Amino acid sequence: MHFFEFFKLCQRLIFFLPLTTANSPDKTTAPSSVALLKTHLPMNWTQLNGGGWSYDNPEEWPVNNPQCGGDRQSPIAINTDKTVNADIPPITFASYDVVLGNYVVLENNGHTIKFNVPQTIENVPPTITNGPLEDIYEAAEVHFHWGSPTSKGSEHVINQRRYDVEMHIVHMNNKYGSVEEAREYEDGLSVIGVLFKVEKTVANHEQPGLSTIFNTVPYVTRYNSSASTQQLISLGSLLSNINRDKFYTYQGSLTTPPCSEAVTWIVYPEVVPISIFQVKNFWFVRDSEGGRLVNNYRPVQPIGSRDVYYRSSNGDEVNYYF
Ligand SMILES: [Zn+2]
Repeated sequence: MHFFEFFKLCQRLIFFLPLTTANSPDKTTAPSSVALLKTHLPMNWTQLNGGGWSYDNPEEWPVNNPQCGGDRQSPIAINTDKTVNADIPPITFASYDVVLGNYVVLENNGHTIKFNVPQTIENVPPTITNGPLEDIYEAAEVHFHWGSPTSKGSEHVINQRRYDVEMHIVHMNNKYGSVEEAREYEDGLSVIGVLFKVEKTVANHEQPGLSTIFNTVPYVTRYNSSASTQQLISLGSLLSNINRDKFYTYQGSLTTPPCSEAVTWIVYPEVVPISIFQVKNFWFVRDSEGGRLVNNYRPVQPIGSRDVYYRSSNGDEVNYYF
């Protein structure tokens, strides 16, 4: 079939797809009955829309996305003995531990499982400020990176160690109007990175918010599918009970095209336990071509002349100022 005819066929197929049903979770529904909200789009939807990049060839990303070849890229390998102690205040979390006003809707976009962060029940977005940040940053999106049955899949590597899963909470400087606008500026975004490590005894009740997310992943294994959680969570619950006052911070980029060098990274050295069953859920996720979406992490990038700072909670170490 000629490409143009094929394109027209795809357009017609999209036209006839059922409309997405409104997301109005019923609190009386059992947690296991997660609502599937969308159906498949044609397999080559991604290519038709010019979003065709893959984890098979990250070294080729700069061809279509020049910023991916920049000198302040992420992720990086963090080595404790090379970090610079920073005398900076802790990060202030506002509305982070207030319950979100809507159920979150997980989506499979062919590259990750993600959800947009709703406002809290007080109708404000969760925000972070202070620490290395000069402005207020609103939480916008959460997504994950993972490995495979034979490999670990965190993006940041700490002291030569890669972990099983990495969660990114993407925040947007609230002086900009959207993530797309904010990523054009070096102070546009701040991403919190949380690393997960498989441990044998992790029960759902120990990490309720995280379990709500991880247990919904099996409902979004198909490309372009989405599913609502059936329990309300706070964003802060995704940080489990890690010490939020100890973190690494450095200037870097988005780890997927367009690799915008707009990110103040905040990476926690404390690792959160995850059960093997929850990690396995990610291994069954499919990409836009129906293949297994595994190892969706970018290789570590050169640190170059950048400093990686470490903020400890007691603040009584030899200090260097930004
Ligand atoms: Zn990410």
